[in-house]
Amino acid sequence: MAPDVLLALDYGGTKLSAAIVERGAHEWRALERVASPPQHDARYEQTTMCALARKLLGDATPAAMGISFGGPVDAARGRVILSHHIPGWEDTPLRDQWHAAFGAPVSVDNDANVAALGEYTFGAGHGGASLLYVTVSTGVGGGFVIGGKIYNGADAMAGEIGHTICDPRGPVCICGRRGCVEAMACGPAIVRDAGERLATNANAVTQLRELGGTRGNLTAADVARAANDGDELARAVMEDAARALGFGIGTAITLMNPVRVVIGGGVSKSGERWWRVVRASACSNTLPQMRVEIVPAALGDDAPLWGAVALAEGSIRE
Ligand SMILES: [Zn+2]
Repeated sequence: MAPDVLLALDYGGTKLSAAIVERGAHEWRALERVASPPQHDARYEQTTMCALARKLLGDATPAAMGISFGGPVDAARGRVILSHHIPGWEDTPLRDQWHAAFGAPVSVDNDANVAALGEYTFGAGHGGASLLYVTVSTGVGGGFVIGGKIYNGADAMAGEIGHTICDPRGPVCICGRRGCVEAMACGPAIVRDAGERLATNANAVTQLRELGGTRGNLTAADVARAANDGDELARAVMEDAARALGFGIGTAITLMNPVRVVIGGGVSKSGERWWRVVRASACSNTLPQMRVEIVPAALGDDAPLWGAVALAEGSIRE
């Protein structure tokens, strides 16, 4: 089987996934996914991922491998720069390590870029010449695909739409600046904004008060659900978050003029109203001659794995 099989790996931070697929196929031959324990390190991830790959492949060698990594990657050199969550990944030659293990061509990139390539090749971006992928969950990440290739930029940092600024006087972002899209539109930003409004509107009637006050563990999904139930405070929170995201997407559209923008991540499941505000806000921040085609991601959690398949295929052609 080996010459026709591609191996796809996804280092997801909280989970590790590995899959094999026959070249040209659109369904997995086999997929393995394991949740990582709360405290773990790079060595644990490497040992576990190696075991998953061996379980899928046996003694066979894949035709090529693609790897998605949840952190900054120097794709040209095939090295992980670091992980923001898992210790021990600093300056790791991931491509060379896997090449040494299997002797097959290996290509590696960061998860937002690889997911972008996955959606471009197999998902919601299929058929277009260019794509901007945006993922909105605990942060806001992004990736550009132009002419079938990930655009990495000079410092392997391209596509950081989450850290474009939409309000210079807005809340402080994890990057240290103010009013980044991420600081206003990601899940934790939605929860923070809801908490602040609850504190400053002591008399507002809202179902979030019980969720946020009594339980003390409000989630962005709770706020989205309340907004869709007609809760006014929740609706204002969701609309402001959607407006900030749409503003950032509009900026990106103005610079790049992509055929399509694909949005994935948990917050993108916030309902029709959220999508309407994102689209309207993006539209108002682009030139009228530009297309604003903004659609939901199609591949869900598998986007990085399918992107890894496309990376593997590309590494054979190179
Ligand atoms: Zn930022």
